[in-house]
Amino acid sequence: MEHQGHNNTVRDPQEEINDLKKELEILKSQQNRFKTIFETSDVAQKIIDKDLKIMEANQAMADLLGYSLQELLGTEIMTYTHADFKERWQQLQVALWHRELPKFRLEACLLKKDGTEVWCIIHTILFTNDGKTFGYTLLEDITSRKQLERHKDQFVSVVAHELRTPLTTIKSQSQLLERGLAKESESRLQELTTGINKHVNRLTRLIDNLVMVSKIEKGLTISAVENYSLTSLIKDVLGDLRLTNPHREFSEKFSGDLQTNGDEDKIRQVLYNLVNNAIKFSSAGTNIDISLHHEEQQAVICIQDHGAGIPKEDHDQIFKRFYQVEGNADKHLAGMGLGLYIADEIIRQQGGKLWVDSEEGKGSTFCFTVPSLSA
Ligand code: ADP
Repeated sequence: MEHQGHNNTVRDPQEEINDLKKELEILKSQQNRFKTIFETSDVAQKIIDKDLKIMEANQAMADLLGYSLQELLGTEIMTYTHADFKERWQQLQVALWHRELPKFRLEACLLKKDGTEVWCIIHTILFTNDGKTFGYTLLEDITSRKQLERHKDQFVSVVAHELRTPLTTIKSQSQLLERGLAKESESRLQELTTGINKHVNRLTRLIDNLVMVSKIEKGLTISAVENYSLTSLIKDVLGDLRLTNPHREFSEKFSGDLQTNGDEDKIRQVLYNLVNNAIKFSSAGTNIDISLHHEEQQAVICIQDHGAGIPKEDHDQIFKRFYQVEGNADKHLAGMGLGLYIADEIIRQQGGKLWVDSEEGKGSTFCFTVPSLSA
């Protein structure tokens, strides 16, 4: 009996070695799993020792800062931290390592190897392994969110500026009218009302453009499909612009009365955007030529000015949202960089195309097509 009992407690050494080997295998595979997750994760992570030096970091961490892993190891994160955030981050680190905090979270700006900024939310905790303490940090890249916030702020201030400019003029001109109604000459009164009208129209167009951008973002759909005369539409738009720009010359060249099919109001908006740009970017003594002709089932409308022109490298860019050619951003000419983006979207939606032909200093010609119903 005793012998049997003894046999039950003392195990075969070989068996024990096998069990230990199995346990070791399990541990190894667990460790591998975590190592793989750490190394291949898209989220930047690092482990630091008590001297705050980076002991381990993953590829995402190296990519985030634009350095190689080798370059990062042994360095301190403060080396890559924007000066404005160093003090706060260091305070939190001290509190964490003194166990005054269980963990911390901080939004900070880091600097990449090429000097560009990268915004992150930093999460740090401490952990102990083999009696030693380490810091584990995860860095969540929020740079694109920050950029979007910045764009939004810029956009709001541009819109506010753009809306205030015509309103200020309307206000001063209407005050002049109010004060001088009795003594002003008829032509002066006419001038003031034309001025007011012009700025009211500008405000209306700005608001129309803003509304259109939000429609495009939501997936614009053509709201009305009807047959209409392109020739009459262009004449109508030009009639209006002649009234509000009495000092500009507009020439028209139409090959007959061309009919089309689509959303007339949106094409009206395109025409206003293009002709207004021609007015804005050319000087008062120069002509603006508008032509309409028929070509391969298409009606082709061109607006030509003899103004500033557009450098070749900007030809594709100007159709992008908010894009404005550098140097054109004169306060007097200020805009929102939305007119061409909207025009391009509308024309594409209606099955046509919009393009530019321009040379710096020699003027620009913007042309677009819409389906032609004429034979
Ligand atoms: P905005 O006129 O409000 O700035 P647009 O989208 O209509 O916005 O135009 C984008 C940019 O393209 C303008 O800021 C300007 O730099 C350039 N541009 C457009 N039309 C002309 C033109 N006829 N002549 C010269 N530059 C032009």
